[in-house]
Amino acid sequence: MPDVLRGAGVSPGVGAGPVRKLAGDVPEPPAGDRHGGDAAAERDAALAALEAVAADLEERGERAAAAGNPDGRDVLDAQALMARDPGLADGVRAKVDEGVAAARAVFEAFGVYREMLAGAGEYLAARVADLDDIRDRAVARLLGLPVPGVPESDEPFVLVARDLAPADTAVLDPAKVVAFVTEEGGPTSHTAIIARTMGVPAVVALPGAASLADGTRVLVDGAAGTVRLDPSGEDVAAARAAAAARASALAEVTGPGATADGHAVPLLANIGGPKDLEGALANGAEGVGLYRTEFLFLDRATPPSDAEQEAAYRTVLEAFPAGRVVVRTLDAGADKPLAFLPAPGDEPNPALGERGVRMSFRHPDVLSAQLAALARAAAGLTAELRVMAPMVTDAGEAAWFAERCRDAGIEHPGVMIEVPAAALRARDVAGEVEFFSIGTNDLTQYACAADRQVGGLARLQDPWQPAVLDLVAPAAGAGVPCGVCGEAAADPALACVLVGLGVTSLSMSAPSLPLVRAALARHTLEQCRAAARAAREARTAEQARDAARAHLPALP
Ligand code: PEP
Ligand code: MG
Repeated sequence: MPDVLRGAGVSPGVGAGPVRKLAGDVPEPPAGDRHGGDAAAERDAALAALEAVAADLEERGERAAAAGNPDGRDVLDAQALMARDPGLADGVRAKVDEGVAAARAVFEAFGVYREMLAGAGEYLAARVADLDDIRDRAVARLLGLPVPGVPESDEPFVLVARDLAPADTAVLDPAKVVAFVTEEGGPTSHTAIIARTMGVPAVVALPGAASLADGTRVLVDGAAGTVRLDPSGEDVAAARAAAAARASALAEVTGPGATADGHAVPLLANIGGPKDLEGALANGAEGVGLYRTEFLFLDRATPPSDAEQEAAYRTVLEAFPAGRVVVRTLDAGADKPLAFLPAPGDEPNPALGERGVRMSFRHPDVLSAQLAALARAAAGLTAELRVMAPMVTDAGEAAWFAERCRDAGIEHPGVMIEVPAAALRARDVAGEVEFFSIGTNDLTQYACAADRQVGGLARLQDPWQPAVLDLVAPAAGAGVPCGVCGEAAADPALACVLVGLGVTSLSMSAPSLPLVRAALARHTLEQCRAAARAAREARTAEQARDAARAHLPALP
């Protein structure tokens, strides 16, 4: 293996530490696996594995509670109870007595419960995922395989995985993870977004990441997109000094977002919940441009109560008494599956399936409860609440959503522009709502037909593709305020281009705000417009980037 591996740097900063891998799927023990005849020993092994899983879940629950997450403890305790279920133990004993090997006996005993739950209505069906998790933990122990999930470590580590799902990262202790490295995942994947939000350096789409050995010491440079193996102490110190110098240079530009000639461009933060407020405020966010509400509920098997929702929303609104807070209604499905809101059946292509607002058509009661909680949360507060729906396709859907918002007492309904059809017919959609927010991550995925989860397609998941800019232009010119809340807003050169296209606000992961603030402050609106014209005249993403940069001489 070479000393330095290269991928796509998606979250700046430097992190050094030992590699810890996120263990992958546990294979099904082959049907027909028999034990050697010592049924008693096999039985003991199987039951001991289940008990060890239960004890481990309980212990993790205690730690979650100690870290201020009592809901996490409730979920883990419920899982521990399932692992200790006497009926399950009887099932395992019976299978082993028939001669079935311990791992296979556990697998089959869980299968009976699994079928019962899967057929017992939507909410119980969501527990199937919990059951599978317990089963996989027990089977992994019996087969001597790594236990799935986020690794445990006493010292800070670099988390390496094929890819990271939002549910994996929800349980991460940010103090323990110094960097993320993944083999899959493009620049707009959730690994990238979560890393930026947490302020953790990250490199994605790194060929060979999954074969890095556990414990190998690495130095990750999230700006350069490199991973250096076995770095020296000097390598680490030099990289840290360079990153710190860059950060302190940026911190010198402060205040509300504006171009050099004073054209105001509010700079807002993308957040996943109240825990991200500190970073947003520390980086000078003028409000929230995208509150990804589904992130609040990722690690739970049951829907949130109305009171819990209201409290979470209120905390965010209270943080910006003179600003705006743009909340997105649940964007469940595809890359953000929610256990309590399953998509129908087996969708062959979830990114083109029932996700976002389409899920709200299926579960209007979930949307109504969320809108009511938002309206209650905002009552009596000075922050301006705006609410938008994800994955809207046409004016009819926008009208449906706006009507529900107004029924709930929400005055400023909007939509995300993520589907090319909505961008192309932006004027029709604008007739129904008060504002747009362009989700360039999904807009790029759909415009270029390139799944944002697939690392090998990083070249196509590039919002500099001139076709994506061609879709931004009609949305920005449709006559309603139009922000951008996709990751494109966090690229300082592209942020200038978006402003040149007529975008009225920019929202991004908080650590990116200083860079974008500095880029805008160093260029006039006319320079941004010239950069935008040049980018749209280009024929490829690379040429668009170069052409725009030629008009933006003072980029940080
Ligand atoms: C987007 O698609 O650009 C967006 C902001 O939404 P998400 O990344 O949560 O899908
Ligand atoms: Mg999106």
